[in-house]
Amino acid sequence: MAKNNRSLTMGSGCPVDNDLNSMTAGLKGPILIQDVHLTEKLAHFDRERIPERVVHAKGAGAYGYFEVTKDVSKYTCAKFLSRVGKKTDVFARFSTVGGEKGSADSERDPRGFAVKFYTEEGNYDLVGNNTPVFFIRDTMKFPDFIHTQKRHPGSNLKDADMFWDFLSLTPESIHQVTILFSDRGTPRTYRNMNGYSSHTYMWYTRKGDYYWVQYHFKTNQAIDNFTGPEADKMRGIDPDCATRDLYEAIANKKYPSWRLEMQIMTPEEAKRYRFDPFDITKVWPHGDFPPIEIGRMVLNRNPDNYFAEVEQSAFSPANFVPGIGPSPDKMLQGRLFSYHDTQRHRLGPNYELLPVNAPKACAMNNYQRDGSMRCDGNGGNDPNYWPNSFGGPDPDPKVAVPPIDVAGMAARHSYELSDIDFVQAGDLYRKVMKPGDRRNLVSNIAGHLKNAQKRIQLRQCALFYKADADYGSQVAKKLGLNLAKLQQLAAMSQEDRVKATAK
Ligand code: NDP
Repeated sequence: MAKNNRSLTMGSGCPVDNDLNSMTAGLKGPILIQDVHLTEKLAHFDRERIPERVVHAKGAGAYGYFEVTKDVSKYTCAKFLSRVGKKTDVFARFSTVGGEKGSADSERDPRGFAVKFYTEEGNYDLVGNNTPVFFIRDTMKFPDFIHTQKRHPGSNLKDADMFWDFLSLTPESIHQVTILFSDRGTPRTYRNMNGYSSHTYMWYTRKGDYYWVQYHFKTNQAIDNFTGPEADKMRGIDPDCATRDLYEAIANKKYPSWRLEMQIMTPEEAKRYRFDPFDITKVWPHGDFPPIEIGRMVLNRNPDNYFAEVEQSAFSPANFVPGIGPSPDKMLQGRLFSYHDTQRHRLGPNYELLPVNAPKACAMNNYQRDGSMRCDGNGGNDPNYWPNSFGGPDPDPKVAVPPIDVAGMAARHSYELSDIDFVQAGDLYRKVMKPGDRRNLVSNIAGHLKNAQKRIQLRQCALFYKADADYGSQVAKKLGLNLAKLQQLAAMSQEDRVKATAK
């Protein structure tokens, strides 16, 4: 039915006379190819799907603002952080990671926590998770890791063998595995979880001073998680529970908010710190680097159109603004390439022209031209090269990231596994979790690991044991594994453990 007296038209604007009956030769057909309205309608429908994201395919998003609550101008010259009270528009997208676009929101999975700040110096994207650490610390392993969390190439089923085979052969994953299988792996809603940069980033000033920082968005709605059985049940009751919750909360004006807390480390502290501060499998303990509250984020507007604004939203950790830069973190370095790359594949080379992705508080001035779906004026008749003597735009050397000292042999350096890689998972189990949290953790792990081969169960339990003897023993007990064998395996080097569990 015509809305606001608007007639139905074809893509060309030509009015359409009938949208119910195809044009046929006689009452019973066949259909005539001259029914161009029908062929256009079918052809467009045939092309409605774009590739879903390889990871983070299922998500929900909302608009809002970020407000600075503490002066941080001594650490960064980023204009959107320049004074207390300054507000910047944001768009946030939350997601699961491994599931497809139609998968359930309550699946056990990390949750993506991505925020685009529309600043006057360009868009700044913070693309984090609801966990402060990650499974691996070199991007080289990322495609393999994700393959193991998705479907088996033969059966097209989720596969406990490949899931745990990879993790047990990748011991640096132990900290993230412990968080994932705690009840934090099944947040009740997107509003009831924290968001972390996970990576270390650089903040710098115009004077060239710089700091290493980590971001923590702390929920003001309080942490609230499903237990494993509750999450399983919710998959059937409402697979879209978190998407629905976010949409309805905002529609009902119950605007969710988060405090932004920062951990800040000087370059000198980083040099002498007891472990690599750029290793994403570890947190900076709060006792060493107390978080400082510097702002808050409020989400207060739902998108009008899911596809245009959420599905087509594209985040990249490579979207920096002056005052914020990367760290040497080897996971971050790979993501700096991969995110833009995947968006170019998914949405096309001009995806930053799409309204949700385009800068809103400043102009986009560059020499990028043409390409598929260029849908603005394409730079008009301005120069398409630089240098030019027709008024630029020109690069501004004042916004350069300060030089940092890096040196070393070009080689494929590996991280040597050491006992320190097990300490934080153990601390989480021993010091942070309450008895009920530990019980749920053990039962969540056993419920999943029981589906893997025994040798893989043993190899993985040895890693839990190395983090904490009680932790490993409890999981092994639930799985009916031999404790003496487990202790033997835990005492071995990873290399020997792999050999001992090869068959
Ligand atoms: P603290 O006691 O200062 O901090 C513990 C943190 O653990 C709190 O931020 C708390 O978050 C969080 N937490 C509570 N339960 C869980 C859970 N099931 N899974 C993940 N995090 C949880 O200790 P430390 O800073 O010395 O860290 C001890 C351990 O806490 C770390 O090894 C790490 O596993 C975990 N942790 C540390 C963080 C950090 O940045 N230092 C951040 C998050 C976790 P909340 O405030 O929301 O209750």
